[in-house]
Amino acid sequence: MRERHAIHVVLRDGCGRYLAGQRETWSFTEDFTQAKVFDFIRDRIAEQVERLSRDHGLALSVVAVDPLERYEVCDICGNRAMPYSIFFDGHRYFCRDCRNAQITRDAQSQSC
Ligand SMILES: [Zn+2]
Repeated sequence: MRERHAIHVVLRDGCGRYLAGQRETWSFTEDFTQAKVFDFIRDRIAEQVERLSRDHGLALSVVAVDPLERYEVCDICGNRAMPYSIFFDGHRYFCRDCRNAQITRDAQSQSC
């Protein structure tokens, strides 16, 4: 239930580029769709941004993300889900529920 209240943000540098990639391999991109989406609370963004500014002189601005813009649509049930909770098998997108259902089906078909 907490996730529903999560504040999703992306981080932008002084040039208007977005932080992308993963921990240890961060990069900046001008492509908003590639931007890494953080959970403002869980990822302690306020603290991180302050630390980057203090330790590295890196000034990042926090940009709240409109969830609807970032949603992916599940190809099975049509539900919308955040990109990080949706699975892509190379052909179709699955929301968490449909992915779990598929894993269960696969497990059942393998046991036969
Ligand atoms: Zn689904």
